[in-house]
Amino acid sequence: MKLTIIGGGIAGLSAAYYASRNTQHAQVTLLESDSRWGGKITTDRVAFDDGNFIIEGGPDTFLATKPWGVALCKELGLGERLQGTNPTKKNTYVLNRNRLLPLPDGLAMMIPTNVQAILKSHLVSWFGKARMGLDFIIPPHSLNGDESIGAFVSRRLGREAYENLIEPLMSGIYAGDGDQLSLASTFPYLRDLEINYGSLARGALEMRKKSPSNPGSRSAFLTPTTGLAEIVEKLVESLKSNRADLRLNARALRIMHHADTWHVTLDTGDTLQSDSIILATPAFVSATLLESFAPTLASDLKSIPYASTATVSLAYRQSDLTRELDGYGYVIPRREGRKALACTWTSTKFPHRAPDGYALIRVFVGRAGQDIPWNENDLLALAKEELNLTLGITAEPILSRVFMWDKAMPQYNLGHPEILKRIDAALEDHPGLALAGNGYRGIGIPDCIHSGEIAVKKIARELSRAN
Ligand SMILES: Cc1cc2nc3c(=O)[nH]c(=O)nc-3n(C[C@H](O)[C@H](O)[C@H](O)COP(=O)(O)OP(=O)(O)OC[C@H]3O[C@@H](n4cnc5c(N)ncnc54)[C@H](O)[C@@H]3O)c2cc1C
Repeated sequence: MKLTIIGGGIAGLSAAYYASRNTQHAQVTLLESDSRWGGKITTDRVAFDDGNFIIEGGPDTFLATKPWGVALCKELGLGERLQGTNPTKKNTYVLNRNRLLPLPDGLAMMIPTNVQAILKSHLVSWFGKARMGLDFIIPPHSLNGDESIGAFVSRRLGREAYENLIEPLMSGIYAGDGDQLSLASTFPYLRDLEINYGSLARGALEMRKKSPSNPGSRSAFLTPTTGLAEIVEKLVESLKSNRADLRLNARALRIMHHADTWHVTLDTGDTLQSDSIILATPAFVSATLLESFAPTLASDLKSIPYASTATVSLAYRQSDLTRELDGYGYVIPRREGRKALACTWTSTKFPHRAPDGYALIRVFVGRAGQDIPWNENDLLALAKEELNLTLGITAEPILSRVFMWDKAMPQYNLGHPEILKRIDAALEDHPGLALAGNGYRGIGIPDCIHSGEIAVKKIARELSRAN
């Protein structure tokens, strides 16, 4: 069986890995348009003094509670290399009218559950706190269908709590607009809490009691010691040893299907043939590839919007800082009107990522519906201005790196579940074709890994049915 996979990000690499590991006779070809593997995962390791800066350009960690990331790392022999976040300085702040205020203790599933901590917090007014308390008595909505994160959380906890506290945490993950993001596609468990417990806070507490944290687990977020690129490197190593055909600088232009065979045309003019195909490209790229033979499917794929973002990492001498970076960083609510979305104090969150005596900070820029400057110099200037305004840093960084991610973050907006249903139905008509990647059912690395595995299973099922 010949399988072609298009897109060498984590989803495509995972699909290739599971295909060559599980299907003994699979001949896997992986095509990547870029000159490196990993897609959004890219790590710069910069030697400096007696140590290294580990600079992540895209994702900087993955969620351990979704099993597929840890499972893959363990299979690849990276289990012992996974580092958790610093347990000694866990503060997270929220920017509120130009001040950094601590996130209240007791957030469970991003829902505030500690009444004392909320009462003490300055992030929400007394009126807003009283409104949050109504969560315990407002009956669940009988609504049948989807609603936005913004509408849902405002309905339960009030608009103020949503805008000042919850929006930067939830929408930040997608760089999205919470008043557009679909609850069903992003945080469906919140609606379950409402239905099953009649209150988000009560439900989140009950869920926490039911799943006491595993004493062996170090942290909810993990990353390999020298960066997420370790996962990419191990996957490539494993694929090479399984004799997969790995091609960089190979851009797919078009896909056709004739006589039970898939034909992929490359920008070199070459055409590859295979029994099955997995598209692990962004949904809008997959749309272009499929346009000429599956226009309806292509049009649904194209309708998934993507937001552009950038990250700017800056390193400073500790002595140049004007305040202690005593936590993981801060998030910035949309209502603050800043271009930056969040700022991670990387060398506190992961102390091994900067040499002693230095601090590494990462500013995350861009969110759905907001324009950001699209060149390195302006992005660097914007990040420095953010650090000056909020942290009072005026010194020049000793090094900086800018990574621009054009149309990188899919937006699971209202209507996304219906788009997925139509895509799934259309795929039924095309046995041997599967999709993987962050555009559909999860944007995080573990979800993307899982999507690759599921795509391989779909193909295997369909081919065994056909034979
Ligand atoms: C700035 C940023 C921070 C993030 N932070 C986190 C985080 O901390 N934790 C987390 O879990 N997730 C995070 N994410 C999300 C996560 O990184 C992505 O969702 C995930 O890496 C996407 O993987 P993918 O394989 O689906 O897509 P991609 O990584 O986009 O891979 C798709 C690949 O397809 C290739 N391609 C495109 N067109 C063609 C073509 N025509 N022919 C051949 N190849 C093609 C591309 O070059 C690319 O390599 C972050 C994302 C960004 C942008």
